[in-house]
Amino acid sequence: MTDTNYQPETLAVRAGTVRSEFGEHSEAMFLTSSFVFPTAAQAAARFIGQEPGNIYSRFTNPTVTMFEERLAALEGAEQCVATASGMAAILACVMGVLKAGDHIVASQSLFGSTVNLFNNVIKKFAVETTFVSATDVAAWQAAVRPNTRLFFLETPSNPLTEISDIAAIAKIAKAAGALLAVDNCFCTPILQRPLDLGADIVIHSATKYIDGQGRVLGGAVLGSKKNMESVYGFLRTTGPTMSAFNAWVFLKGLETLKLRMDAHSANALQLATWLEQQPNVARVFYPGLPSHPQHVLAMQQQKNGGGIVSFEVKGGKEAAWRLIDQTKLLSITANLGDTKSTITHPASTTHARITPEARAAAGISDGLIRIAVGLEALVDIQNDLVGGL
Ligand SMILES: *Cc1c(COP(=O)(O)O)cnc(C)c1O
Repeated sequence: MTDTNYQPETLAVRAGTVRSEFGEHSEAMFLTSSFVFPTAAQAAARFIGQEPGNIYSRFTNPTVTMFEERLAALEGAEQCVATASGMAAILACVMGVLKAGDHIVASQSLFGSTVNLFNNVIKKFAVETTFVSATDVAAWQAAVRPNTRLFFLETPSNPLTEISDIAAIAKIAKAAGALLAVDNCFCTPILQRPLDLGADIVIHSATKYIDGQGRVLGGAVLGSKKNMESVYGFLRTTGPTMSAFNAWVFLKGLETLKLRMDAHSANALQLATWLEQQPNVARVFYPGLPSHPQHVLAMQQQKNGGGIVSFEVKGGKEAAWRLIDQTKLLSITANLGDTKSTITHPASTTHARITPEARAAAGISDGLIRIAVGLEALVDIQNDLVGGL
C-alpha cells in the first residue's frame, strides 16, 4: 500500500503489510536467519543484486521490511532503515553520511548517549562536533565550518522541552552543504514530520513511543533513497540491525500510535496546567502551555505539546526526591513513551555524569522533575503527586 493520500491513522494500521501465500491477516513474524533459493543461478542473481529478494536477516527480513515501509509512510520518507536501538540508528546515521575530517554542528540539549557518541566515539575517527544552543538559530550559523556536513538536533529536547526551529535550521544547513538530522523520538510522526519542514534525515528510538509499552529496543533512520544508501550499507556490513521479533512488536505498536499520542498529550497538557497552579511548583516546562517560551513555534511545527512534562519544585534536590519517593503509582525510572507514567530526577540520573556547572548552564536544576505522562486517569496521577507538593 503506497497511497500517501491515506490519513496517518490508516497508514499506521495498513501501510507496509505484505501477506505470505497463507493469507494471514495479521503481519507474520519471520523468525529465520536465512532464506533459500530455488536454484544456484537465482542464488547468484540475488547476491549480486540482479534479482530482488531476501538472502539473510542481517541484510533484509520481511517482518522488518514491513515495519520500515509503515514508518516511512508515516514520516513521508522515501526510505526507512530499521536498527537494533535508537543509538544504533544515530551511529548508522553518522557512520553512513560522514567521513574522517568532517564536522558536526549539534544541539547541546541532546540525549546523553548521543553526546557521548559524538564526544568519545566518533571523535576517535576524526569527526569533530560543535555544540550550540537548541533555540538560538544564529548560533547554528556561527558554528558552520567549511567541513561541516551534518546538523543534529532533538526537538522538543529532554528534559526541558526546548523547541528548535526545524525550518530555519534546515535552511542554514542547506546553505552550508550539510544535512539536517532530527531525532523525532519525543513527537513521533503523529505530532511532527521533520522532513516536511526541510530536514533531510529523521532518527527514531522506537524503544519509546513506537513500541509504547516498554517491551523492546529498536530504532530507525529515514530519508531519501540517496541519503539512506550509505546508512543501509553500514548496517548491512556491521550488523546492528533490527530483529524480526522486535519489528513485529513495533508493527503492532504503530497501529495504536495515533490513539496513544493523542491520549498522552491530552493527559500531559492537563497535568502541566494543573502543576502550574501548585504553590510549591516554581516553573513548568511544557510546549503546550502558553507560558512556554517557544509555545508559538511549537504549535506551528507540532500538532500538540506531546507527552513529556518537566517542572521545578521549590526546595531543590531534597524536595524533588521527597516528592518522587512518596509516589505510589508512578514508576521511578528514566524510560519514557510507555503507557505507564514515569518520574525522573534528571540532575541525579540521566544528567548525573555532566558537571554541576554544565548542568546549571543547561538549565537542569536540582529541583527539576520530569514526568513522561502515561495513560492512567489524570486524577490518579494528580493524587499521586499532590502529597509531595
Ligand atoms: C532513548 C533515546 C535515544 C536512544 O534510544 P535507545 O533505543 O535507548 O538506544 C535517542 N534519542 C532520544 C531522544 C531518546 O529518548
